[in-house]
Amino acid sequence: MGGDVPIPELRRALHRVADEIADYLDSVGERRVLPLVEPGDVAAQLPPSPPRTGESLEQILDDYKQLIEPNVTHWNHPGFLAYFSITGSGPGIIGEALASALNVNAMLWRTSPAATELEVVTCDWLRQMLGLDEGFSGHINDTASISTLLALAAARHRLDPTIRERGLAGRSEVSGLTVYASDQAHSSVDKAVMALGIGHGNLRRIACDEQFRLAPEELAAAIEADRQTGLQPMAVVATAGTTSTTSVDPLTAIADLCQRQGLWLHVDGAYAGSAAVCEEYRRHFAGWERADSIVVNPHKWLFTPVDCSVLFVREEDLLRETFSLVPEYLRSQEGEKNLMDLGVQLGRRFRALKLWMVIRAFGVDGLQERIRYHCALAEELARRIDGDRDFEVVAPVPFSTVCFRWLEGADDDERDAKNEALLARINAEGPVFLSHTRLRGRYVLRAAIGNLRTTKEHVDAAWRTVRRCARRLDAAG
Ligand code: PLP
Repeated sequence: MGGDVPIPELRRALHRVADEIADYLDSVGERRVLPLVEPGDVAAQLPPSPPRTGESLEQILDDYKQLIEPNVTHWNHPGFLAYFSITGSGPGIIGEALASALNVNAMLWRTSPAATELEVVTCDWLRQMLGLDEGFSGHINDTASISTLLALAAARHRLDPTIRERGLAGRSEVSGLTVYASDQAHSSVDKAVMALGIGHGNLRRIACDEQFRLAPEELAAAIEADRQTGLQPMAVVATAGTTSTTSVDPLTAIADLCQRQGLWLHVDGAYAGSAAVCEEYRRHFAGWERADSIVVNPHKWLFTPVDCSVLFVREEDLLRETFSLVPEYLRSQEGEKNLMDLGVQLGRRFRALKLWMVIRAFGVDGLQERIRYHCALAEELARRIDGDRDFEVVAPVPFSTVCFRWLEGADDDERDAKNEALLARINAEGPVFLSHTRLRGRYVLRAAIGNLRTTKEHVDAAWRTVRRCARRLDAAG
């Protein structure tokens, strides 16, 4: 009766999995990035109800191989240039596997001393790698969306500690709270204000300049207008590496304003923050050292498998005051850091292990080298696009993402339609996957370089694919 899978069977399966993973990563570039499936195709091949009796790992892995692996979108593919392309690198995969084997829950120091202490130390390594001072301490969340939510919760607590106990609803003595972010900021900011009861309508989306950076004078005016009407400005979320174009808000000017106005400054560096590992890119981040909180996602551009988001805060005690609540059954004597106190969740995965392994395996030099290479590939791609009279680069390229547009079409609306059709055609071809955004209302294509397998050959091939698809669409009228 019962018990886990016998160790000999498990060992055999793990050896097979090691081979499957290595083979997959070795050959992923030979596949299409997007599987040729329609919605419902995968589900239709799965039994509608669970097996009554257990099946062998061998058989389950056979089905994985046949049904699951071929039908995922291959984020590991070197031609994956959509959204923000990422890599679950080898060392990260090993860390993830070992973390699931240990299966510790690092809610308290006692529930896993090594997981807690490794998280503290690894976040501190990352802090040093990013050039941030010792005043920042970091902890790991699943996503930037949660890191930003926690940061804004702490901002709310600093502004009015009574909200923790008494909430916001029905309190005439509490003025409405407002949060500010640029019109390019990520939708996670919207979700955070919604979840915190601040209200989506109290997030002010501030206009950007021609380079998609928040305009500080517009921000100052919005704060002033809110104060005039009796609202309480609470926080500014500045973005260092926006989702569409990777623009960086003027962090120093925003920090000055936040300081003058007594507002919390949260910097969303979910994607581009990793570039601060390279000294020459730190100029983009000047001013973020004055933030109250910063989020950087190693799962975006530090080659760590999803999920891994580091939230750095200046006042960790404030985060603790915001969230700490210790029922009797979680009381402990050690007086050590208990990571459960820093956020909403109690149980927490051992995410530090994979980040630690990535940093150790590549070293700071190795990580710098890879980030520099991605930025150089993007720069070269932007040069080629700019050199083609049928295309234009539509935003500066500070990091490794290029926004561009096909110039075909008599007016802007027709160009939008042409670019949309072009994207559909490129992605249908298979060896490359691009995504899109809208800038100033116009449909724009994006190529984001962030995968460790992406080389100059892949980017050249992607550009050839774009041009070939455009020519064919042109010919088809
Ligand atoms: N912030 C920025 C700038 C992003 O680009 C993204 C996602 O791409 C996020 C936040 C949200 O990240 P996550 O998926 O970790 O919540």
